[in-house]
Amino acid sequence: MKVAFLGLGDIGALMASHLARDPFDLVVWNRTASKAEAFAREHRAQVAATPAEAVKDAQVVITCLPSSVEVEAVLHGENGMLDSLRKGTVLIDCTSGDPPTSRSIAAELSGRGIDFIDAPVSGGTTAAKAGTLTVMWGGEQSVFERVRPVVEAFGKKIVHAGAVGSGDALKAVNNALLAVHILSAAEGLAVLVKAGVHPNVALEVINASSGRSNSSENLIPQRVLTRAFPRTFRLALLEKDIGIAAVLAEDLDAKAPLISLTAKRFHEARELLGEKADHVEAVKMVEQENGVEIK
Ligand code: NDP
Repeated sequence: MKVAFLGLGDIGALMASHLARDPFDLVVWNRTASKAEAFAREHRAQVAATPAEAVKDAQVVITCLPSSVEVEAVLHGENGMLDSLRKGTVLIDCTSGDPPTSRSIAAELSGRGIDFIDAPVSGGTTAAKAGTLTVMWGGEQSVFERVRPVVEAFGKKIVHAGAVGSGDALKAVNNALLAVHILSAAEGLAVLVKAGVHPNVALEVINASSGRSNSSENLIPQRVLTRAFPRTFRLALLEKDIGIAAVLAEDLDAKAPLISLTAKRFHEARELLGEKADHVEAVKMVEQENGVEIK
């Protein structure tokens, strides 16, 4: 099966590595060509010079880009995919995208006989490496069945969220909860440090109690207390995700003040910490504001 993979970033490269073997015949494209070349030195893959070249013979195309804006650009921009996609091809967009753009791309492609599913992933770089990502997809079941082996190559828990755009919506809300949990755990621990409680003691109790979350159980012990802050998922991308969730709530007239406040706080964190910071570094903003370190 001929597969094209566009976007070899922190998670994209790990996902693509599972497709660099039989029964797949993989072509990769990345904006920064050196990353695609490095990938092809380590894996069985051809490098394409442009998105158009990458997709011209592909039966399945996967995009894994920062946001739907870049997916649009790779579709419509110079040397973009649009005119090279073959009729009958399925575009699987693994970007954590936004539902309205995914719906509009799906509608445009449908007029050309090309199918689209939004299929964002969760589980981070650890699950991407292991090929055990959770995949939440939106679109038609019959389309999905044609690409199931491709998705199963990197996904373990694979869930149909609904119509096109539903995968994006579910992903944005999941990540909104992640953002809320990171900041709420950081605020709580900053308060406790000020109250004279050591963070190790605080987490021992919280993680045996109802205040626990993935942030308190894993992210803070492994990345904050150690001051390691490895970059696995950029803060800028989480800010984008919670922004999508806030707009989704607004568009649906849903009352979601915690999501909209956390979106504002992540915007502040992105301004403070920059484009390269990891998402967990948002804790540093709370630390600075409170004049404490959680360690
Ligand atoms: P990165 O920021 O590491 O990589 C982004 C990729 O997109 C790179 O290949 C980059 O190319 C490319 N890119 C950026 N801008 C453009 C552009 N204008 N045109 C073409 N290509 C572009 O992101 P991740 O790999 O971490 O994330 C990809 C998607 O997966 C995002 O939507 C993210 O939210 C989602 N995701 C990420 C997770 C993670 O743990 N990292 C977990 C779950 C979902 P270049 O190399 O040239 O910069």
